[in-house]
Amino acid sequence: MAIKLFDSMSRETRELRPENPDGVFRFYNCGLTVYAAGHIGNFRTFVVNDVLRRLFELEFPGKVKHVRNITDVDDRTIAQARAEKRPLAEITRKWTELFHADCVALNCLPPHVEPTATGHIREQVDMIDVLMRKGNAYRTADGSVYFKISSFPDYGALSRIKERELKVTNSVFDADHKDDLGDFALWKAYKPEEDGDVRWPGPPSAAEGRPGWHIECSAMVKKHLGETIDLHTGGVDLLFPHHENEIAQSQCCNGTTFARHWYHSEHLLVESTKMSKSKGNYFTLGELVEKGYSPMALRYALLSGHPRKQLNFTLDSLHAADSALKALKRFSDGLGVPPKGQGEPPSTLFEPVFRALTDDLNTPGALGALFTLVNATDPAKAQPGDRAAFERVLYALGLDLGALGSPGASAGPPAAVESLAARRWESKRAKDFATADRLRAELAAAGWSMLDGKEGYRLEPLKKA
Ligand SMILES: [Zn+2]
Repeated sequence: MAIKLFDSMSRETRELRPENPDGVFRFYNCGLTVYAAGHIGNFRTFVVNDVLRRLFELEFPGKVKHVRNITDVDDRTIAQARAEKRPLAEITRKWTELFHADCVALNCLPPHVEPTATGHIREQVDMIDVLMRKGNAYRTADGSVYFKISSFPDYGALSRIKERELKVTNSVFDADHKDDLGDFALWKAYKPEEDGDVRWPGPPSAAEGRPGWHIECSAMVKKHLGETIDLHTGGVDLLFPHHENEIAQSQCCNGTTFARHWYHSEHLLVESTKMSKSKGNYFTLGELVEKGYSPMALRYALLSGHPRKQLNFTLDSLHAADSALKALKRFSDGLGVPPKGQGEPPSTLFEPVFRALTDDLNTPGALGALFTLVNATDPAKAQPGDRAAFERVLYALGLDLGALGSPGASAGPPAAVESLAARRWESKRAKDFATADRLRAELAAAGWSMLDGKEGYRLEPLKKA
């Protein structure tokens, strides 16, 4: 089962395989900026990447390293901390915890390493220092450091951006400081009126300040995956300038190919338009759960469109997803549970599903093939291995039928939910009601409600309204 995927750099669909000598498949996915709850457009990217991760786990068992970062210092996180008059770390911890709860609810496997930007200042400063010494970066009058685009002839290879467009796009920031309008910041000198107490010692000869956004991914990839990785992914909004800048930084610093393969998932539209708070079509997982929808229905709906095409999300699509999941649950119940100790190797019944998934991650094709087979198969007459084959499909798509909360579902809460609940109970007993309330909101986002008694508590899946 070779996994073929479109490569945004070569614009060809190419087979993925680990190419470093140790045989480990190195996979980096740009993560969330933790200044607010992730919206469902963010989660489209994370769910799509989770299916990729699961395919890699099946194809390269025990030989996958998945890294996804947390951006916990940038203009938006600092602005949010200042608006709330709270320390930056407190704000980013709160939104990181909610992000983790949302990922658990959506059944996304945790990355093997989840580095933070603030946890890698040293690595970023070191990389900027190398770029300055190699002549790819320069210090400006205020002590900031910029990347010199003219020093990297391959700049623009990923996005095919024309030089003129580049100057227009990048010129909005600090135009009067830079040698060239297209150059971008690697290090931003401290500005007391904007940065509050957020600052670190900079590279030699630069001022105190903080890293520019793009350098964190270059530094974390190098530290946790090495100089050349097999796959780098993100939402299409990151293709330019973020990924173009990552390539420039890493390849100038390391002198070798940064990523062998690039993959970008497309935008999510909601009710046919771009999501925005003012239009009232902006949703977080927590808001959908409050409306009575299950996280698993959202996961299914996010996979129902081709990841490289814009997907129009509607609340109706969640109803359709819910019905589809219930049909899968009925099929699963009909297959029954095989007696213990009699594990059969998976049959070939669901091969068409994997053919679609491994052909440029065609998730709607895979779901279509799955339903064709489920509709044509009488579970009572299933062959040996069909149950195992069905479980393998559910694993690849990350569909947890036990998380539907339907009557008779025997699965208890996931471990991360149990741990949130335990922490909330302890906070409540310690009379830290603010923390307890926040953890209750995280539990709700994960699809669980906590019923408190005198001596203990009970967890129940949130029912649909
Ligand atoms: Zn990144």
